[in-house]
Amino acid sequence: MAKLKQLEEFREEIDHCVKCGACRAHCPVFGAEKQEGRVARGKIALSQAVLDGEIKLEEKVLEDLSQCLLCGSCCAQCPNKVPTEEIVAAARRRIAEERGLSSFGKGVAAILGRPKLMNLLAKAGGTFSSLLLQKLPENSGLRLRFPAPYLDADRTLPPITGKPFRERVPETIPGNSAAPTIAFFTGCGINYMYPAVGEALLRVMRFLGVNVIIPKDQACCGLPAVSAGAAGTVEQLAEQNLAALTRRPVDAIVTACASCNAGLGKVYAEMGEDMEPLSSQVKDVFVFLVEQGLPEKLAQLPRAEQRRRVTYHDPCHLRTRGITKEPRQILAALPQVEFVEMPEAGTCCGLGGTYSVYHYENSKKIGAKKAANIDASGAELVATDCPGCIMQLQDSINHAGGTQKPVHILELLLEALPEE
Ligand code: SF4
Ligand code: SF4
Repeated sequence: MAKLKQLEEFREEIDHCVKCGACRAHCPVFGAEKQEGRVARGKIALSQAVLDGEIKLEEKVLEDLSQCLLCGSCCAQCPNKVPTEEIVAAARRRIAEERGLSSFGKGVAAILGRPKLMNLLAKAGGTFSSLLLQKLPENSGLRLRFPAPYLDADRTLPPITGKPFRERVPETIPGNSAAPTIAFFTGCGINYMYPAVGEALLRVMRFLGVNVIIPKDQACCGLPAVSAGAAGTVEQLAEQNLAALTRRPVDAIVTACASCNAGLGKVYAEMGEDMEPLSSQVKDVFVFLVEQGLPEKLAQLPRAEQRRRVTYHDPCHLRTRGITKEPRQILAALPQVEFVEMPEAGTCCGLGGTYSVYHYENSKKIGAKKAANIDASGAELVATDCPGCIMQLQDSINHAGGTQKPVHILELLLEALPEE
């Protein structure tokens, strides 16, 4: 069975940290708090102390180790490529082994590990959303009508669909026999909150004649459980996804969510050879579309006279894996779009999965910088490649009093393609 690495297995990487402090400039949490315990080298030192049994697992230690978005921004800039996000995640697993999961972590593990329960809860959320949630002006999201555990009253939430995406579409959608076949890993964000993004992906694949399989028994990628330290849940979900996504031969397993891409393509890859048939096939949708020559096909469409100014936010889980060019290539090729860069497009939006639940005040501080950069770009839309980022960007823009709208690039692609 696929297994996540233990903290002990990171001893060599921990030793590679030379405490140079180069990570300070790139850690969003340090930027928000300016505390040494919150920067990568501080968390590495704490993880080493946990590993060596030198400190008690008291509240201060747990708090410092929880103050990490697992964004990987430090590793991308570290001269020794120390994988702080992997070390911190392993330290959280170690702590969970000794002390048990936090109550929120238990909830995450219980729901993610039972896909049927998750489906049921999501459908109930969709059915009762008008009772629980109120609409914000300008169609910019929803807010809770009543206080709820782990969700602040001033947080903007996306609607939950009453009918998940995977229940709306057939499992197999044939295209041209000469075209590639993909398995589409929808992830929970598209399945439960942004089904229009999934519909847009299917339209683009039809335009290219690509054959699509959407396995019904795929599960969450498990990234929220990685963040919570719930090792058993991650391993169980990885096994389930391995079976679902490799049952039939495909040319690629395509994701349209940065976090799912990192979950399947990076976290699973670190779980041993068993996961290789899945993790080696994972491809971000825009990498796939560029390979299929979509920018050239878009260039043949008539240019719109009035184009919309659109900027791009790099999700950490793609940027730190070197996927930055392809989403921009597609955006720049869209006939109705005038693409502009924003300052610091590659900094974190502040979501960090469960981070924004535990540390919403910091998450808002990090998001405020992103909202200011979006504003500075002069764009009316901010496009990205991650449902989680869309949710956080909308929240940050609303707090900043902005009017820009976050969208998935696939939604803009849908607009550009000829009607069927
Ligand atoms: S994590 Fe990397 S950048 Fe940060 S102090 Fe250690 S060696 Fe330097
Ligand atoms: S993974 Fe992100 S939040 Fe965590 S220490 Fe590195 S830069 Fe900071």
